[in-house]
Amino acid sequence: MSQLQRIAIAPNQLQEDQILLTPQQLHYLGRVLRLRDGDRFMAMDGVGKCWLAQLAGEQGQVLESLSVKTELPVTITLMVALPKGNGFDEVVRSCTELGVTCIAPVLSDRTLLNPSPQKLERWRRIAAEAAEQSERSFVPTILEPEAFSTAIKAGVENQRYICEARGEYPHLRNSINSVSGEIVIAIGPEGGWTETEIENAIASGFQPVSLGRRILRAVTAPIVAISLIAAACEV
Ligand code: SAM
Repeated sequence: MSQLQRIAIAPNQLQEDQILLTPQQLHYLGRVLRLRDGDRFMAMDGVGKCWLAQLAGEQGQVLESLSVKTELPVTITLMVALPKGNGFDEVVRSCTELGVTCIAPVLSDRTLLNPSPQKLERWRRIAAEAAEQSERSFVPTILEPEAFSTAIKAGVENQRYICEARGEYPHLRNSINSVSGEIVIAIGPEGGWTETEIENAIASGFQPVSLGRRILRAVTAPIVAISLIAAACEV
């Protein structure tokens, strides 16, 4: 099935066994990919379902439902203090490819950026494209940015980690205590977390962890963290 092109559809585009294609999807399938009536493609709804379909005029005729096994056995929420410039684009793209479930952009004491609403739309588009590209059946949720102090108070996951570049903390690799369930991992901004932020996170159940002895860029650290979790959880 790997040679087939994929498109992401909204769940309400599927009616009975017909996929009602949008003008953009028709353009992409017909003009960009040069598919003709009868040619096959895959459609994913971004929330776990995938279908084999064939082009039929302005619709996709569903041929069969497919089982896609590309998701990790854990749910990972990545909390990231927004890096400067367009660094967050790369975080969203790479971490989606690696299997993240949810990305929560947070504003920390040393965050420089307060993003525009257009940025959120852009990140969601990047996540959808990266999920398609890496053949995932889920598109990660990108939450609205919120203050780190608020974000750490939500949720009841028992595996919550905060990455700190300095100090004698256990390595994340040795700290993951379950390869299923829900994991939350927090990465700081270019200037790092403040002491108060670390203290508040610990008080909210976060365990401080290291990603190794080198100081990673704010864009590299999330990629390393998600890779380590995926490596620990995937057989
Ligand atoms: N300016 C900070 C300093 O000099 O300590 C470094 C901040 S680092 C560029 C950005 C974020 O990436 C950190 O807040 C941390 O969450 C994460 N990070 C980078 N390297 C790390 C490491 N070796 N272990 C754990 N976290 C790391």
